[in-house]
Amino acid sequence: MFASANNSLLAQLDTQPRVRDFLERAVRTDRASHAYLFVGAPGSGKLDAAWALAQALLCEQGGCGACDSCIRVARKTHPDVHLYEPESATGYLIAQIRDLLEDVALAPIRAPRKVYIVDRAEQLRANSANALLKTLEEPPENTTFILLGTSTDVMLPTIVSRCQCVPFRMLSTDESTDAVARATGLPEPRCRMAVAVAGSPARAAAFLKSAERQEARRQMLRAVDALPRADEADILLAAKDLMVAIHAPLADVKSTQQAVLEQNADYLSRGALKQLEERNKRELSARERSGIMEALASVRTLLRDVLMLLEGAPDGVVNDDVRDIVERLAASTTTAGAIAALEAVGRAEKRIARNITPQLTVEVMLFDIRKALVCL
Ligand SMILES: [Zn+2]
Repeated sequence: MFASANNSLLAQLDTQPRVRDFLERAVRTDRASHAYLFVGAPGSGKLDAAWALAQALLCEQGGCGACDSCIRVARKTHPDVHLYEPESATGYLIAQIRDLLEDVALAPIRAPRKVYIVDRAEQLRANSANALLKTLEEPPENTTFILLGTSTDVMLPTIVSRCQCVPFRMLSTDESTDAVARATGLPEPRCRMAVAVAGSPARAAAFLKSAERQEARRQMLRAVDALPRADEADILLAAKDLMVAIHAPLADVKSTQQAVLEQNADYLSRGALKQLEERNKRELSARERSGIMEALASVRTLLRDVLMLLEGAPDGVVNDDVRDIVERLAASTTTAGAIAALEAVGRAEKRIARNITPQLTVEVMLFDIRKALVCL
């Protein structure tokens, strides 16, 4: 029987009803494609839909939302679902795609099949795209690829033609906020803040359920709040504490990885185990990166709020729960200062994309923001 309980991720995709119905039908009738290309603007929920489809494909009941497999996928700790993101500023590394292809050749660990989610597929270029083409055309029986991209125009036609394209409609902030409010039952201002910080509705809902991710945001905002009065030692200490807070949600991922390694130590060859370890390392650093990006996004929304106040548009403030911080910062700086501080956040995002050490990136950003807020 095909279950669509409330905790099924696919059933929760209510901002993209066409996509939801289409994917539900594909899973129910056992006609899922071996390669999908989800196309849509950032924040339209492509990644959420990819995890939802993975959950439905791996679950014996088509995504019940309640079994061990479904819970693991929802927590993003299922060893047979792999998320790939570009690891260099210029796109995917050929080594990443080799790693993916070697993994495709291995049998699944827990589920009857494996799912590969390839985020920002427009960054598959030349060598890395070519390496993937043959496998995309003829993947092993038990493998599903889900590629995500913003537009087919910027992707290699050879990649696009090998996938079933699924278009996502663009969501307004109000639509996303409403979806989060429906999913969490929390008041609208909190949901609006979560959408601004986390991006898509599902990520925002997950953010509101994670005490650790919210604590990382609060700590980040407190650090920025203290900047106008901070000295060098204060900033270095704040950056160090922030890294601890940002890493806290990774403990769950690490312990799952360790458990999977231990369970498979007797069955897998040395080579396969080493490969699993390598992949775990990559996955962990991808998760670390997304935690940092979320912390940076929370600073970006805070500074945008400061700019709103300075420009006389207090209704646009998103961080309602920390209005005191927004007001304090607005009182201590100018429009030019807030804009320069926002530029410092932009530079930090680029540094993370270029794989510069997170702690160093955060330190440099905090110093730059202090300079911008105080001097301009
Ligand atoms: Zn299930």
